[in-house]
Amino acid sequence: MYTRIVRADQDNPDREAVMAGASIIRAGGTVIFPTETVYGLGADGLNGEACLKIFMAKNRPADNPLILHISSPDMLDRVAVVDSSDLRSKIMSFWPGPLTVLLRKQPTVPDSVTAGLDTVAVRMPDNPLALALIDSAGVPIAAPSANLSTRPSITDSADAIAEMSGRVDLIYDSGRTAYGIESTIIDLTARPYRILRSGSARIEDLEAVFGHIEITDAARGTAESEVALTPGMKYRHYAPTRPLFLMRNVEEFVSLLRSSPDKHNVLFIGCSELLDGSTKERYDLGPFSDLRQVGSRIFSSFRYLDSGSYELGVIHPFPETGYGLGIMNRIRKASGHRTASAIEIMEAMGSGRIE
Ligand code: AMP
Ligand code: MG
Repeated sequence: MYTRIVRADQDNPDREAVMAGASIIRAGGTVIFPTETVYGLGADGLNGEACLKIFMAKNRPADNPLILHISSPDMLDRVAVVDSSDLRSKIMSFWPGPLTVLLRKQPTVPDSVTAGLDTVAVRMPDNPLALALIDSAGVPIAAPSANLSTRPSITDSADAIAEMSGRVDLIYDSGRTAYGIESTIIDLTARPYRILRSGSARIEDLEAVFGHIEITDAARGTAESEVALTPGMKYRHYAPTRPLFLMRNVEEFVSLLRSSPDKHNVLFIGCSELLDGSTKERYDLGPFSDLRQVGSRIFSSFRYLDSGSYELGVIHPFPETGYGLGIMNRIRKASGHRTASAIEIMEAMGSGRIE
C-alpha cells in the first residue's frame, strides 16, 4: 500500500495539507495525524468498514474500541448522549484538551468503533491540524494511537513514518507532539465517575470540576485488573522489546548510576538533575520540576532503548500526583511490572544473566 507523506505545520497547517487528509478520510481511507497527546491513526468514525482498516493497520484486537475525535460541540450530540446542560458545560471546560469522556452512544456509531459496547469514548483534541482535519472531513474521526499494537505510542512523526509506512494512506510529518502521554479517560456513565486511564489531563483539575472521581488500580498501573474495566486494559501495552526495570526508589537509581561498571549495555532513563555529570549511557527526560516535559519524552525514551545495542534499561519512579500519575502508569506497563534494586541490577550485569 502506498503511503503519502505530507509535511504540515501542526500549529498553523496550510489548507492544501489539510484537504489532502480530509479527502482520504471522506473516501474511507486512513490518516496518521498529530494530536496534542500522541499521533492518532484515523478513519471516518461513522463508516464501520473504514474503521476496520484501523484495526488491520495496527494489528489491533477487534474488541479494543476506538476514541472518536470531534471538532465542534455539535458533533458530540451526533455520537453520544449527554444527559444535562450542566454536564455538557463541565465537559466543554476541558475541551479542546486531553480528556476523553465515556458516554452512552448514539445509534449512528458503528460497532467497529465501540467493539459492540453501548458506550462511546469521545474527545476534542487541542491541536490545530487535528481540528482542521476533522472539520474539513465533516465527520468525527475514530483514532487510537498510531503505533503497532503493544508498541509504545508514537510522539514524533519520524517514528510514525518508520513504523507505519505501507500500512496507511497518509502520514502527516509534523514533528513532536506537545504532551506525549495519551488522554485521560473518564467514565461518566459510572457512579461515582471513575478514571479508566490516567493521562495528560490531571485528576486534580478534573475533581475540581466533576467532584470526587474514583481512581481505579488499572488507572494507576499498579494492578492488571481481573475484570477489564475498559477493553484496552487487558492487553499488553507500551512495551519496548528490551527489558526495562523500574528502580524501587530514586536513591537506588542514583547509587546504581554511580557504582555500576562503565558498561555500555545499560541505558539509564531519568531526570536531568540525576543524570547530569554521569558518563553512563543515558536518556534525559528533562527536569524533575517539569513533569509535563517528562511525559512528552517518555515514549521516545522507550523507543530509544530499542534502537541502540542496549541489553536493558533502568528508570526511576516519579511522584504519583499531577502528570506523574500518567507517567508512572506508562512506566509500570512498559516495564512489565518489573521492579528492581540496585543490587539486583548489578548482579544481573555482572553475570551477564539479565532478566
Ligand atoms: P488508544 O487511543 O490506542 O489508547 O485506545 C483507546 C482507548 O480508549 C483504549 O484503552 C480503549 O479501551 C478505550 N475505549 C474506547 N472506547 C471505549 C469504550 N466504549 N468503553 C471503554 N473504553 C473505551
Ligand atoms: Mg494505544
